[in-house]
Amino acid sequence: MKSFSTFVSWALLLIIMGAGKLSAQHSPEDLLLQHYRPKSIYKVPYTDVKKPCCPVIDMHSHAYATTPDEVKLWVNIMDSLGIEKVVILSMATGVRFDSIMELYGAYPDRFIVYCGLDYSKYGTAEFPSSAIKELERCYRKGARGVGELGDKGLGELYSWPRPAYGLHIDDPLLKPIYEKCADLNMPVNIHVAEPYWFYLPMDSTNDGLMNAWKWRIDVSNPDNRDYDALINSLENVVRDNPRTTFIAAHYANLNHDLERLGRMLDKYPNLYADISARYAEQSNIPRYMRNFFMKYQHKLLYGTDMGFDISMYRLTFRILETADEHFYFTDLFNYHWALNGWEIPKNILRKVYYENAVNIINK
Ligand SMILES: [Zn+2]
Repeated sequence: MKSFSTFVSWALLLIIMGAGKLSAQHSPEDLLLQHYRPKSIYKVPYTDVKKPCCPVIDMHSHAYATTPDEVKLWVNIMDSLGIEKVVILSMATGVRFDSIMELYGAYPDRFIVYCGLDYSKYGTAEFPSSAIKELERCYRKGARGVGELGDKGLGELYSWPRPAYGLHIDDPLLKPIYEKCADLNMPVNIHVAEPYWFYLPMDSTNDGLMNAWKWRIDVSNPDNRDYDALINSLENVVRDNPRTTFIAAHYANLNHDLERLGRMLDKYPNLYADISARYAEQSNIPRYMRNFFMKYQHKLLYGTDMGFDISMYRLTFRILETADEHFYFTDLFNYHWALNGWEIPKNILRKVYYENAVNIINK
């Protein structure tokens, strides 16, 4: 009996394995886009960028390292690549901020830690003075910026210990906080909206479908501010607080419409944009990106927002510096398209990698 059941189990297993093998060779009609992992067959130049062309400051990262050993490893990676400093957008206040500050404070020349905003009294008469008090406390502990603040439609969602749904970044309640940031010379990094694909119908016409589905925005929720309103809210804040330096995270999520970001960058001396976590989104328009970098070379800030793996850093350098075409890095990106290098000239990269950040840090 036992041997018969073993035989049945093996037979079943072989059938299942056979079916699996069969489906791997199946017609493309059965292949889901999410399983599509093409490999480039082109014999075209491949540039292994071990180190960037110039010194680097990463203006958009987070507290990915959570132990002293991990922070040390990160510093070793920075040393091997020539990354001078990394901005840690902690988004935290209170004890959480204190512990992050303590961890990264072991390397005061290598990490710049930003704090979040304390929304715990939001909805009471104590807000925003309570938030300003905590901001000043974090500053005394070592915070040198605020962020990232985030509004994907429902209000301030990034912050510990709690978000502030319903409070949008251009709410008059936040004005005295932005004023205080100017007084303390703390830049404010703001993430508004999401890439436009995330708002479009999730159908066969959605160009960025794979990532858009994962991060989709519920456009049917009436409490959600729409895309245009969110972009406008960023402009309101930048215009109404000219003494405060603002950094629009991820090209202000205007990835499909950089002209609109350009108009804001032209208009407001206190606005910069970081290029973090949008390498795949921009990589399919390499000539456009090169021109955009030429035009806004004084306003763009290098950033990553994708952990601290050495291969991740090298991929960003490859995209920015080389003319390599049609390569994949599917571990990091969910889009179905290939990547291309933008071949940004070295004199411009020097500003984006480093000099623009130094101007903000030392302002
Ligand atoms: Zn981020």
